Amino acid sequence: MNKQKRQAVIAGNWKMNKTRPEAKALIEQLKPLVKDADCGVVICVPYTNLETALEAVKGSNIKVGAENCHWAKSGAFTGEISAEMLAEMGVEYVVIGHSERRQYFGETDQTVNQRVRAALDAGLRVILCVGELLEQREQGITEEICAMQTKIALGGVTKEELSRIIIAYEPVWAIGTGKTATAEQADEVNGLIRSVVAKLYGEEAAQALTVQYGGSMNAKNAQELLDKEHVDGGLIGGASLKAEDFSIIVKAASR
Ligand code: PEP
Repeated sequence: MNKQKRQAVIAGNWKMNKTRPEAKALIEQLKPLVKDADCGVVICVPYTNLETALEAVKGSNIKVGAENCHWAKSGAFTGEISAEMLAEMGVEYVVIGHSERRQYFGETDQTVNQRVRAALDAGLRVILCVGELLEQREQGITEEICAMQTKIALGGVTKEELSRIIIAYEPVWAIGTGKTATAEQADEVNGLIRSVVAKLYGEEAAQALTVQYGGSMNAKNAQELLDKEHVDGGLIGGASLKAEDFSIIVKAASR
């Protein structure tokens, strides 16, 4: 299997943006622009927009995801949302381990793994984020960091469950900064992540895995990144809030 046979997926990460009316308007704008996409199209939205988004995407090719979930099924976790709650609503995807969660909310490799397990147990598809800090890249430990994050996050995940996981390589220094990794840097680390997965699950499973790049991907630079062998799509922050820009990235991933 090679890139041509893997599913490219473009996922928007809206972060903490959009009220419900704004969310509905953005989705209505997006639907006709991406209706002919030859790749997966996902929008990951704030919890408060999930119901609005699920209603708005009905009959379209757009799938809906959440931006996080808790590892417990229920209980005394004020302010948290479980994977089961998301699945019951009809949500299909969840982003886990985003660097903003790691940076601002105490997310660790271990809690990322717990959340991945909970999401899979609830039947969700996971967009698992890994990536190095700027100082780690400068120290030359990008490979070690991304390999470690990937291995710990996938602890206890079976080969069958791996088919419900997308890994997003997101160098932290490129997220929301306008500094994109070069296409070569993205391809190199995405390839490394694939080789880590190959060691854990075998070459066939690794070749079938969708590995996205995320970090200031936009309408201008998407094509060059997406043309690379190991870049099977993108996790898009800022540019996913503009229907036109997001749809250009979707077109770049369609083949
Ligand atoms: C992200 O939030 O995952 C992301 C990649 O953001 P941006 O595209 O804005 O860098």
